[in-house]
Amino acid sequence: MKITDIKTHIMQVPLVRPFRISLGVITHAVSCLVEMETDSGITGYGEGSPGPLITGENLEGTVASIRVLREKLIGMDPRDIEAVYTVMNRSVAYAGAAKAAIDIACHDIMGKAWGLPLYKVLGGLSNSIETDMTVGIDEPEVMAARAKAHVEAGFNVIKTKVGADITCDLARVKAIREAVGGDVKIRLDANQGWHAKEAVALLDRLNEYDIELVEQPVPRYDFEGLKYVTSHSSVPVMADESCWDSKDALKLVSERAVDYINIKLMKCGGLYEAKKIVNIAEAAGVEVMLGCMAEESGIAINAAAALGAALKNITRADLDASFSLSQLPYEGGFTVENTRHLILSEEPGLGLKGLREEMLQ
Ligand code: MG
Repeated sequence: MKITDIKTHIMQVPLVRPFRISLGVITHAVSCLVEMETDSGITGYGEGSPGPLITGENLEGTVASIRVLREKLIGMDPRDIEAVYTVMNRSVAYAGAAKAAIDIACHDIMGKAWGLPLYKVLGGLSNSIETDMTVGIDEPEVMAARAKAHVEAGFNVIKTKVGADITCDLARVKAIREAVGGDVKIRLDANQGWHAKEAVALLDRLNEYDIELVEQPVPRYDFEGLKYVTSHSSVPVMADESCWDSKDALKLVSERAVDYINIKLMKCGGLYEAKKIVNIAEAAGVEVMLGCMAEESGIAINAAAALGAALKNITRADLDASFSLSQLPYEGGFTVENTRHLILSEEPGLGLKGLREEMLQ
């Protein structure tokens, strides 16, 4: 089997409401959809969603990188993922969203060629995964009302964004805990918003409201700060922006700088690299969460959910971005049961039945 073409389509879908984190505001899912054609008649789909606030890529850059990779990959077998990655990494540095789009399309083709749903291609531990639901930064009473509505809808883990305004973080978390009651897990994401010592002091106070974990309390480059918070805080610490790939993961776990790692396909460049991170973390006794970008349309979330279901060291999921879209650009893929359970398709590959052409540019 050979790749004959890699086509790109731009897609922008408005979110139901603007989503604020400590780094800025996101209003649209912004994606580059990849259609990978082969000489066998099988077409694979992938998605690259650059998150400028997190990854520094923008849509034009992602499309440009995919065009460069297209020239190198035509003629290769998409099932030879080690070979595909070797060529991608020699051709373009970084560019996680571009590589993820191609990686996901290759995996979709593998599943279709082998007649297996993607979760079975990737490990097959189970066919479902539970996700949390995220509340963006707003006034405390607004965040509390949203969290309560999510819990009433059926979510039992609320992830709340903090770190934009330290004086308000305590009021926000207090309001959410009072609104959702004691049985709901609350996890925090500071998106690099604090310094190490203020993080430790603040987390000790926030933990009065029973916090499960905190994501990325300090700037991504502050490795020593992350390690300091992990060793001094009463709240377990998860690396997100500090962990891009397997090399970061190895450094973080070998120096015991974190308790957990959050993988995103758009940071690491796809399922192939994500599996390496999961394996390194598992060997170190560090559990992994699978996250997504707020800009994703859902196609990449199908890939991430398949990986999360397939591997046992992925014990948490933050795959809620597709719930925030005003419409979905595809049919098929996972179904949702009891609000928070993503049930993977049994169709081969991603199980997408078709893209809604009217939503593509
Ligand atoms: Mg995060």
